[in-house]
Amino acid sequence: MSTHQSTASSTLPALRFEHVAQQGEARAGVLHTRRGPIETPVFMPVGTAGTVKGIRFEQLERELDARIILGNTYHLWLRPGIETIRACGGLHRFIGWERAMLTDSGGFQVWSLGALRKISEEGTEFRSHVDGSLQFLSPEVSMEVQAALGSEIVMVFDECVPGEATYEEAQKSMQLTARWARRSRDTFDRLQAARADTGYVEARNLSGSQALFGIVQGASHLDLRRASLEQTVEIGFDGYAIGGLSVGEEKSVMFEVIDDVVPQMPPDQPRYLMGVGTPEDLVEAVARGIDMFDCVLPTRNGRTGQAFTSRGKLNIKNAQWTRDTRPLDDQCGCSVCQKHSRAYLRHLYLTGEMLASILITHHNLAFFLDTMRGVRQSIRSGEFPKFRREFTERLNTSGE
Ligand SMILES: [Zn+2]
Repeated sequence: MSTHQSTASSTLPALRFEHVAQQGEARAGVLHTRRGPIETPVFMPVGTAGTVKGIRFEQLERELDARIILGNTYHLWLRPGIETIRACGGLHRFIGWERAMLTDSGGFQVWSLGALRKISEEGTEFRSHVDGSLQFLSPEVSMEVQAALGSEIVMVFDECVPGEATYEEAQKSMQLTARWARRSRDTFDRLQAARADTGYVEARNLSGSQALFGIVQGASHLDLRRASLEQTVEIGFDGYAIGGLSVGEEKSVMFEVIDDVVPQMPPDQPRYLMGVGTPEDLVEAVARGIDMFDCVLPTRNGRTGQAFTSRGKLNIKNAQWTRDTRPLDDQCGCSVCQKHSRAYLRHLYLTGEMLASILITHHNLAFFLDTMRGVRQSIRSGEFPKFRREFTERLNTSGE
């Protein structure tokens, strides 16, 4: 029986992307993972160090119905370390989240360390932000860490360049990313064969193994982006991400890259725009054919008192909310908006109560996830252009 299963599972994919509806470039689908289906387009809350900051997993799961969250390889590798996570049965068991997870490769985080890191053909040497120790991250190390974490979707180890990088810099970096993608693929396949993945689960019509996504780089240079996509598709992955956007370039540049690259991407596989963005960025990128997003904005801004609402951003510190009994967003059905006023949230924030961050983070995540729910429904019912127009008009009507 087990022989039969392993023979069958070796021919099955790790993920299956079911394309359900399309309007223009915008598409709605279902991403079938070993830990359940994920309707797309989807927003993935960021769980940096084994926690989506400021919210309990029960609420993310039961109230907000998040189907997938993101974990950061760099942070978890440095602390608590993969030996600890392995000993605790992988990341899902360690943190108490049973649904799907995507892990980044750590490439972006070490790149963000700036002067603290040194990049070579072999990998990146850097000083740990935790204790200053010298560390080395490479495609091989990143794949080993992500196998130990046991996420459903693993990202290749890539190199990023700033949005304003010169052609030569961007070209050199993009070529290095392609060589690292090949090394990531080889190590990943070897680790899957060795069953190093701590998250393995039997799943209907799927292999139960991890999936691996490639990343398209090339900064703002469209011909480099196209070359990067070709090289990445040639290696072959379960999905494709666009990396290196939202790193300081103009927003028009970001959409120019997306407009150019997305139509060239394989139509039958998921497309992930990394690290983007505001609610309006999400809706605009969906209109251009993107299926998956992650961003720290709802959680980070939740901790600094900024709420995202259907009428734009709202800063809870403002004196104008002192006696305002309205919720953050009267269009929002979340439990915070059902119960609490702007006046109360402002009071909590000004007195330094941790509940302020918790409640605003909760609302922000609800708003991002609800927005994507609305996007999906409108694509399925053929009303996405109307949804997009009304969403944008409402956002621009002022924060009150
Ligand atoms: Zn709300």
